[in-house]
Amino acid sequence: MAQTMQAAVVHSFTEPLRLEEVAKPEPGIGEVVVKIEASGLCHTDIHAAHGDWPVKPKLPLIPGHEGVGIVEMVGAGVTEVKEGDRVAVPWLGYACGTCRYCVSGWETLCEQQLNTGYFLDGGYAQYAKAYARYVGKVPKGVDPMAAAPLTCAGVTTYKAIKVSGARSSDLVAIFGIGGLGHLALQYAKIAGATVVAVDLVDEKLELAKKLGADYTVNGLKEDPVEAIKKLGGADAAISVAVAPKAFEQAYRSLRRGGTLVFVALPADNYVQLPIFETVLNGIKIVGSIVGTRLDLAEVFDLHAAGRTQVIYEKRHLEDVNRAFEEIEKAQVPARLVFEM
Ligand code: NAD
Ligand code: ZN
Ligand code: ZN
Repeated sequence: MAQTMQAAVVHSFTEPLRLEEVAKPEPGIGEVVVKIEASGLCHTDIHAAHGDWPVKPKLPLIPGHEGVGIVEMVGAGVTEVKEGDRVAVPWLGYACGTCRYCVSGWETLCEQQLNTGYFLDGGYAQYAKAYARYVGKVPKGVDPMAAAPLTCAGVTTYKAIKVSGARSSDLVAIFGIGGLGHLALQYAKIAGATVVAVDLVDEKLELAKKLGADYTVNGLKEDPVEAIKKLGGADAAISVAVAPKAFEQAYRSLRRGGTLVFVALPADNYVQLPIFETVLNGIKIVGSIVGTRLDLAEVFDLHAAGRTQVIYEKRHLEDVNRAFEEIEKAQVPARLVFEM
């Protein structure tokens, strides 16, 4: 008799997720089955469940791309990991390995890629199947509950700070202190930058202060553009707020030569930015999508070395719909992690 497992499943973009018994996956060639211990809730999972983006996920879908757990079964030909290893199952679930992007260390741009919790079933379940080549090894000393948010929120913002070019003399503005933002500000500090944290919720800004932000701005009480310009303007601004308005403010908060990094993916897909000022001020705008396997390994190493703090609260998978609502209303400190 085929084995089953519990999973949270999206059947339609307009209905809540359903907790169901579904078939437990079996590993194919090059694949592993991971017994999930912890599974982070990324805002992307909400976009996926709502069908917010121009490219729609598969349905039915088991969301989740911050699943962390123990390899329980390995398929034929797997050499990368073995039974008993703790691994993370990230957004980049598969890439071809041979295209110009893959061979140049940009597998996150591979056109053949498959994304976990979008085109492949993800971590909102007791077990998840994954391609062994694309799981991240979780080092000893990294707790699975903390490893989960690092698997997307961590690697994504670590990469965003890298591509921003931020260095010690820079002022870096982080727009949105949610799951991603609370880690973005720590990576900016690790790069040596001075950090301004912007959000609309005071509790998020208090957390930002505790995590090392030098300045905070509540965008409902103060104009972030003016506040940041008063500090000289940002050398880099990272937009991890789910609102086009924050992208526009981040743009206008830059000093000449500054870099704006697009990271958040609001359903409302467009921003209005001026051409003239972009040209005359030598502004750079760059999109940043998650991070590579190397970036993820670096993120885990930094955490194992005690250099980052992951702020999360635990939830049960049965409460997935309530958890989505909490995130949409910005009612939680940073990340929610389902304990399996
Ligand atoms: P989150 O809900 O945890 O955090 C968003 C934060 O933005 C909240 O703290 C909220 O209060 C704040 N915010 C909302 N409007 C704001 C505004 N106008 N100004 C300032 N702050 C504002 O979400 P998250 O999980 O951190 O994800 C953020 C976004 O990043 C989502 O759209 C997600 O899909 C996207 N994402 C992108 C990548 C990528 O690779 N580019 C990876 C992961 C997530
Ligand atoms: Zn994510
Ligand atoms: Zn490729």
